[in-house]
Amino acid sequence: MNIPYLDLKSITAQHGEEIQRAVAEIVDSGWYLQGNAVQLFEQHYASYIGAEHCVGVANGLDALTLTLRAYKELGKLNEGDEVLVPANTFLATVLSITENNLKPIFIDVDEDTLDIHTESIEQAITANTKAILLVHLYGRCTYNSRIQDLCNKNHLLLIEDNAQAHGCRYGERRTGSLGHAACHSFYPGKNLGALGDGGAVTTNDEALAQTIRTIANYGFSEKYVAAYKGRNSRLDEIQAAVLDVKLNHLDNDNNRRINIARTYYKGIRNEAIRLPKMMETGTNVYHIFPVFTPQRDALKQHLQDHGIQTLIHYPIPPHRQACYKEWSHLSLPVTERLAQEELSLPLHPAMSNEEAAYVVDIVNSFNP
Ligand SMILES: *Cc1c(COP(=O)(O)O)cnc(C)c1O
Repeated sequence: MNIPYLDLKSITAQHGEEIQRAVAEIVDSGWYLQGNAVQLFEQHYASYIGAEHCVGVANGLDALTLTLRAYKELGKLNEGDEVLVPANTFLATVLSITENNLKPIFIDVDEDTLDIHTESIEQAITANTKAILLVHLYGRCTYNSRIQDLCNKNHLLLIEDNAQAHGCRYGERRTGSLGHAACHSFYPGKNLGALGDGGAVTTNDEALAQTIRTIANYGFSEKYVAAYKGRNSRLDEIQAAVLDVKLNHLDNDNNRRINIARTYYKGIRNEAIRLPKMMETGTNVYHIFPVFTPQRDALKQHLQDHGIQTLIHYPIPPHRQACYKEWSHLSLPVTERLAQEELSLPLHPAMSNEEAAYVVDIVNSFNP
């Protein structure tokens, strides 16, 4: 069997006719930016997430960067302010902080839950701490009420990086509606993916939404009148139309992911391999299914030899990147070890039960 890590062609083909029709409608309309499709998707996505406002932007990194920038323009953040962030995240989360001349304070994660401890957050808070940027990494909801209490008590902004967790639940609510603002990426491989780049910010804060919209449109508060030194960051009509179609299928697609993850949890029995602690149904939408072993490279090779493609999320933590020499002295031992031991198994909604069972068999046959 040959199992690619991600099969975007099959994923798109699952809703192929609907997507083709939606794209054709935009092509024929002659209206490609700032039109009805973006407006409709923003309404639908805000309502799906359970937020009052949704602002479409060009990608997930922009969603993060523009949110922090808007908070600066609104006087809620100032250059040099400390932003707490999990050390185990995708580089873009941290880029948005440094791009705004804010200071990332990296928090190490827990080996079993992969979350940051509430106690570690509490210990990291100083008089300069102004925000927490929570990342629902791998599709796992990492929010809890004690984090909320800490934010309330210390007057911290709570911002979610929801790039990997569209549709994930926390009780009756969804990630993306839990903090003051949430940033979403619609990169093709994400749970809700476009056919190109896309992103969005959701929030109940009307001033924030308006400020992001303005900055993302050259800073124009009205036509050709610039309130800010802005930029150009937009979701386009074709991507919005595609996302609107796929949003209708997101819960089904996530359920399919959850079923494959169940197959992995039930089937994988190999003493050399650790699985992350299983979470309550719905609180993990399995964007990524990470497994851990000190023999990671050998496991990757073993799977490759049997036709199974895997990826690593992520081989170099942000604080160890060449672009962040200023943080290279930091010691974040769990994050650093996870980067050595992590391997992501194939998992996507177009995968068959047979394929998932085959992955289980090959993982179980690994004998380092
Ligand atoms: C994908 C991703 C981003 C960046 O999104 P892009 O649309 O690729 O810019 C940010 N944070 C996390 C956690 C991501 O997975």
